[in-house]
Amino acid sequence: MFNFFKTALSKTIENIAGIKGESKKITKDLLEEILLEADVSYEIVEEIIYYLPPSNEVKKDDLKRVLSSYFLYEKPKISSTKPFVELILGVNGAGKTTSIAKLAYLYKNQNKKVILGACDTFRAGAIEQLRLWAEKIGVEIVLSSQGHDPSAVAFDTISKALAKGYDNVIIDTAGRLQNQKNLASELEKIVRISNKAFEGSPHRKILVLDGTQGNAGILQAKAFNELVKLDGVIITKLDGTAKGGCVFSIARELELPILYIGVGEQMTHLQEFNADSYLQNLLDPIFDNG
Ligand code: GDP
Ligand code: MG
Repeated sequence: MFNFFKTALSKTIENIAGIKGESKKITKDLLEEILLEADVSYEIVEEIIYYLPPSNEVKKDDLKRVLSSYFLYEKPKISSTKPFVELILGVNGAGKTTSIAKLAYLYKNQNKKVILGACDTFRAGAIEQLRLWAEKIGVEIVLSSQGHDPSAVAFDTISKALAKGYDNVIIDTAGRLQNQKNLASELEKIVRISNKAFEGSPHRKILVLDGTQGNAGILQAKAFNELVKLDGVIITKLDGTAKGGCVFSIARELELPILYIGVGEQMTHLQEFNADSYLQNLLDPIFDNG
């Protein structure tokens, strides 16, 4: 199978190999340097070192065991509810609209009937961007014009999905954070109105985080988690960054499952997050002496 994680982490892996150089033995000092360089946060690096056995040389299996413990947060079960409604959140530029296109493509290939709600009515061009993706993938979309009430669009999208038997509803949202209070009330309203259109929805509230921001994205994420209780995270743009270690901090600090990672700009560039593959690809360059 094509190794998505290796591709996604290629910059991080390259960096690790550079720091490791010719060293055959991984000492705790060297490990600390490698992890910090990969953008694992300082506290988490200290914690990882603390939980390793006392010897100064680090063994691959021990490190794997410690690192695995960061990914124990359970994934929300995808219910058989129809339609299954997902709300996609995150700051401008994080990759929300692109991730929605990727999810729509994924569901469509599972023979699901998909409808998108263009509820980012704030940013000029956002609706058109989603419309173009919908057209390319061949899925339905509910549009309005810029400036309209996004919760009305959410209501219409979910109502149409119910009436016409759609399987999946994916709702785009605006991501501006400079006006925290407006954003909070807008998101709260979208959630409330969605529940009105179809009780129990939205079933998943997913935060999209830009992986190139590394640890800096975490504060942002916490702010969103306080606004609406999140169910999981998609980390985008891991293909373009050496900060692949930020995934630990995100999982740990938010106590949320990482659902998918974005590994490029195309609709096929979405990979379900798999902690084992991720760790293996991160650990191989550290311990590989080939
Ligand atoms: P939004 O403002 O959150 O909706 O963000 P967009 O979906 O418009 O994405 C912003 C930019 O990031 C666009 O140029 C996307 O092509 C790009 N992008 C999104 N996801 C990825 C990814 O996983 N990898 C790369 N390399 N680029 C991405
Ligand atoms: Mg967008």
